Amino acid sequence: MMTDIEKFVDMVKNSDNIVFFGGAGVSTESGIPDFRSTDGLYNQHYKYPPETILSHSFFMDNTEEFYRFYRDKMLALDAQPNMAHIKLAELEKAGKLKAIVTQNIDGLHQMAGSRKVFELHGSVHRNICTRCGRTYSAEWILGTEGVPHCEDCGGLIKPDVVLYGESLEEACILGSVKAIAESDVLIVGGTSLVVYPAAGLVRYFQGSKLVIVNLEPTPQDAYADLVCACDIAAAFDF
Ligand code: ZN
Repeated sequence: MMTDIEKFVDMVKNSDNIVFFGGAGVSTESGIPDFRSTDGLYNQHYKYPPETILSHSFFMDNTEEFYRFYRDKMLALDAQPNMAHIKLAELEKAGKLKAIVTQNIDGLHQMAGSRKVFELHGSVHRNICTRCGRTYSAEWILGTEGVPHCEDCGGLIKPDVVLYGESLEEACILGSVKAIAESDVLIVGGTSLVVYPAAGLVRYFQGSKLVIVNLEPTPQDAYADLVCACDIAAAFDF
């Protein structure tokens, strides 16, 4: 009998049309806290809950406090890719993986070498002047104090991150839907599949094998061909 992990590895090795859909669990091994896990951001002490601070209205009304939290909690710039990021980048280079769709904003897939990455919730590595559109790096933001303003025009800089109360970028959704719909094997990893609209993307899959790799059960486990109850970084350690 093959173990679930062995079946997972077998499916990866036997497909050349894989798409990976990932969430916070992909980066926990890299030391980036999962918002919703027990030791995640939600259980850390701050004056407001993270889902309040990371909302569009809070950004507009309490910009300085938003940036205090953003620099302190969101810009984990010393984080390094783990086995999941590294293996996915290798699979793309080998022509087996067609795209990554991620809910993460940490840029670790690109750091590992992945190229085709749909960042549903944006990236902390792009911070954009709301007036002239100039982009600033996360490092640049870390070097500022208070509310960062554009060096060119003085405009307010906003992270290119989808805040609560904001819509996902349409082109990114369409690209993700197309990649998922055209894939033969869809690996869903490190996500509890409870955050919509992102979690709804899985229903566009019409390939042959849906694989869910997550420590906790997800609402879509019943539709999967294989469910591995393990850490995604551990599953990719082959
Ligand atoms: Zn500007």
